[in-house]
Amino acid sequence: MIRFQALAEKYDTPLYLYDFDYITTRYNSLKEAFKAKKSLICYAVKANSNLSVIQHLGNLGAGCDCVSIGEVKRALYAGVPHYKIIFSGVGKRDDEIREALQKDILMINVESEAELNRVEIQAAELGKEARISIRVNPNIDPQTHPYISTGLHENKFGVDLDTAKRMYIFARNSDFLDPVGIHFHIGSQLTQLEPIREASAIVADLVRSLKVLDIDIRFFDIGGGLGIRYENETLIEPYDYAQAILSTLTGLDVTIMMEPGRYLSANSGYFLTRVLYEKVNGDKRFVIVDGGMNDLIRPSLYNAHHTIELIGKGADEEVSECDVVGPVCESGDFFAKNVSLPITREGDLIVIHSAGAYCSTMSSNYNTRGRVAEVALEDDGKHDRLIRRRETFEDMIALEKAYLKKD
Ligand SMILES: *Cc1c(COP(=O)(O)O)cnc(C)c1O
Repeated sequence: MIRFQALAEKYDTPLYLYDFDYITTRYNSLKEAFKAKKSLICYAVKANSNLSVIQHLGNLGAGCDCVSIGEVKRALYAGVPHYKIIFSGVGKRDDEIREALQKDILMINVESEAELNRVEIQAAELGKEARISIRVNPNIDPQTHPYISTGLHENKFGVDLDTAKRMYIFARNSDFLDPVGIHFHIGSQLTQLEPIREASAIVADLVRSLKVLDIDIRFFDIGGGLGIRYENETLIEPYDYAQAILSTLTGLDVTIMMEPGRYLSANSGYFLTRVLYEKVNGDKRFVIVDGGMNDLIRPSLYNAHHTIELIGKGADEEVSECDVVGPVCESGDFFAKNVSLPITREGDLIVIHSAGAYCSTMSSNYNTRGRVAEVALEDDGKHDRLIRRRETFEDMIALEKAYLKKD
């Protein structure tokens, strides 16, 4: 049991709380599942990029999958070694590519022919050989939400098989490119194993055909995307995941790389918010809380389900349906619609579950609301520690205040 009340009192609300032991357990379960082969888990930093979260995973042995040079620098700053950092993403600026090369990261995941040319030019200017991996789009329907589906040709990500082959040959013939890896990532919040296995089989076949062309792929990057339980989703077990991938790799001597984000951190996280008051408009009951969509946008953005828990109320209390909404001036500012809750009072504590991935990282200052504090729980929840202080008004105006006109 997490001491939600005590922590809300100590740090105030709204607040993010992350159980680091949970992250450890998840990391170990994945690592263990793949123990038959060499593997490197590169945590997808975009899921939760708090420096202490990255540091915690780095200490467990994780590398990082980054989608901007900012994330690469975060990973390095948190102590993750440069040779465990990879740089993915559908659009990279020249200066980002250049800096990644200068920092000598493990590899750049290239997503188009045009990008490969840009990487070659930057590497040539620096007199370096860029280690690259190519993101293959295997045209598999991952059966997830369209916004987080990435493995179909209609999605903007990666290149088709023929293009990939052409790019590998181009890279092999270049003095400035070293094609060491191959990559696919078909979507997020995946709950079906078969699309992953199919994608892996297609990409593994490509690796075999590249071998014939004297292109030796050493890193087989299966992306991220493992689903988690928000509500009652069926889940892919790490063991089954590993077996499905391994079954496609017979005869290949590769290091398996993974880029899990949500799987590692989502259910480590809780968002704590307090009730401001209730109101009724016509037949509709609203519980208005001090957290808003600027703090946690997934319900507004994807209509995502997050379990809502009202702390300190008995199970025998009478409930009625309500919407739990924030103070932001948008109708889309809600955490849950038509949930059954007892009547709340000012100051009651509400915990929003599964808030460890794509929550704080998507937060903003909309409505000039400061980003909230973040706290780590460690040692079976016995210790709590601030890992990001609450943003102040001064923080929010810092980049603008020097530019006011003076008369
Ligand atoms: C977002 C992303 C991930 C992580 O996805 P999760 O669903 O959080 O596991 C991994 N790799 C790439 C390339 C991504 O874009």
